[in-house]
Amino acid sequence: MPDTLCSIYLTEYVQRVFFMVRSKKALELCMGILLIVGAFLLSREVVQVVSQNRKAAKTIVVDAGHGGDDPGMVTEELKEKDLNLAVAKKLKKYLEDAGYCVEMTRTEDKGLYQEGTRNQKVQDMQNRVAFIGEKTPLLTVSIHQNSYPDPSVKGPQVFYYADSVEGEKLADSIQDQMNERLQIESPRQAKGNTTYYLLKKSPGVLNIVECGFMTNPEEAAYLQQADYQEKVAEAIGEGIRGYLEQKE
Ligand SMILES: [Zn+2]
Repeated sequence: MPDTLCSIYLTEYVQRVFFMVRSKKALELCMGILLIVGAFLLSREVVQVVSQNRKAAKTIVVDAGHGGDDPGMVTEELKEKDLNLAVAKKLKKYLEDAGYCVEMTRTEDKGLYQEGTRNQKVQDMQNRVAFIGEKTPLLTVSIHQNSYPDPSVKGPQVFYYADSVEGEKLADSIQDQMNERLQIESPRQAKGNTTYYLLKKSPGVLNIVECGFMTNPEEAAYLQQADYQEKVAEAIGEGIRGYLEQKE
């Protein structure tokens, strides 16, 4: 074989080897990049799942009763829906400061129904129950204000579903804190109930907290004061904390 032909073959051979080495390196580089990207995406996914679980593990739902077209109890100067929202917002802050994650069913003067729906009240209640089901919280508290024909009747009262052992424990804990911190003269006891829609239909532990009587002039005056609302929120928050700590 002439020298020149031999050198052409040799050059081609070297080039081919060089190309193979280069493409192998490129392949290795690609694989490396893919592995790094894959590991990054996976770790992000894991972090997301862990933080979601941690969030769900410490979530409390705070439900401000009524809202929008449904004012709840109304007196000359007060609408129940406004007092409920004011206390609920303060309770949210208190619980968040204590390290819990709070989900509110509403944060403004709005019900959980679609405008123009024939039975807004039914849709509103169904949506509240669905909201609680979605959040899978540790527990739910629904904030309300009471009323009674006899204006001398007053004092906070907590309701639980009558068959719920955990509901009763939570209610006792909140009731005790409210009686003590709000210095209630004739303290009430938490009460079981089987007819309230939210108590019957909500998944998990739920209490309805009636903060006071809007029909009692003295209590109605207190209930509209921001610092009394703060005290009410603190008492409910401490009741929740006490219940959860004893459970751990
Ligand atoms: Zn109400």
